[in-house]
Amino acid sequence: MFTVENLKQTLQLFKEKIDKNKDYLSELDTPIGDGDHGNNMARGMDAVSESLQSKDPETIQDVFKLTAMALISKVGGASGPLYGTAMMEMAKASATTSDALPILEAGLAGIEKRGNSQPGEKTMLDEWAPAIKAIKTGKLTDAVLEEAVESTKEIAATKGRASYVGERSIGHIDPGAMSSMYFFQSLMEAGV
Ligand code: ADP
Ligand code: MG
Ligand code: MG
Repeated sequence: MFTVENLKQTLQLFKEKIDKNKDYLSELDTPIGDGDHGNNMARGMDAVSESLQSKDPETIQDVFKLTAMALISKVGGASGPLYGTAMMEMAKASATTSDALPILEAGLAGIEKRGNSQPGEKTMLDEWAPAIKAIKTGKLTDAVLEEAVESTKEIAATKGRASYVGERSIGHIDPGAMSSMYFFQSLMEAGV
């Protein structure tokens, strides 16, 4: 169940994990992309943090909405519009519920629609889909999240920049799946 407090805490924890692992995320993006994922996400989460501090939203819908707008406007890479769309769809869903599952499912659907993608293509969806499936069955754990990230190594990318190297992307972790792991870990730590 989302509350304004645990959602703000989730985003703060997510920002801290992104900052701490910024170089690592960009390193993951180097062999199969353009080496900017850590910088993109750090810039985006800085903007989110600034916006939430200055506007001090009082509903979960407004927190998600401001987060979406900051990510969409500040992140140039593919991940900005994708995470931004997820947050915008979560804002819409939170108009009628504060249950985490339907809200996160709306976020997942938003990424699929915006990215014209689905799980199994070596993207952030390969973290979002197993994480949400685990929440559905009541068992989201770090092990589930870590295993899902690790398994992106086995996939040949068919979406995003990594698809340019195709088969040669095998053996490498998808950077967006890794940053998404930090998001779901933050949710767990904030007690959502
Ligand atoms: P860019 O590729 O524009 O430099 P980033 O490096 O910030 O953007 O983000 C790359 C990540 O975005 C990938 O690792 C992948 O997880 C995700 N991604 C890219 N394209 C798609 C897509 N069509 N659907 C879902 N996720 C995608
Ligand atoms: Mg990149
Ligand atoms: Mg880029």
